[in-house]
Amino acid sequence: MPNCIFCEIVAGNISAKIVYEDDKAIAFEDINPQAPVHIIIIPKKHIATIFDIEDNDLDIMGYLYFVAKKIASTKFLDDGFRLVINCGRSAGQEIQHIHMHLLGGRTFGWPPG
Ligand code: 5GP
Ligand code: ZN
Repeated sequence: MPNCIFCEIVAGNISAKIVYEDDKAIAFEDINPQAPVHIIIIPKKHIATIFDIEDNDLDIMGYLYFVAKKIASTKFLDDGFRLVINCGRSAGQEIQHIHMHLLGGRTFGWPPG
């Protein structure tokens, strides 16, 4: 997808600190971390937002949680962690390629800001 930073990371055209990759998903450190552990997990397929998920995307969306679990175990987040997917403008979605934030290594407040 042209002009998509995360598709460029998938293609290897923009560098990122990759912590996990397979044929369906890739995960890398957030460039502006909000916690000691802040990983971005994305499907390699370009899906802009949760609004754009279609029937044949259900497997990959579920798979992102499985990747999150695997990364959490490598980062020793046994005490817990937070997963966030921002969708659309009012949630502050900045990059229009679905991504899950995996945040850990500190205590989080609720409700989120
Ligand atoms: P959003 O607000 O869309 O849910 O989150 C986008 C996230 O992507 C932000 O936390 C931001 O710091 C991160 N980000 C934006 N551009 C880049 C980039 O080029 N590389 C990396 N590694 N993270 C990025
Ligand atoms: Zn993309």
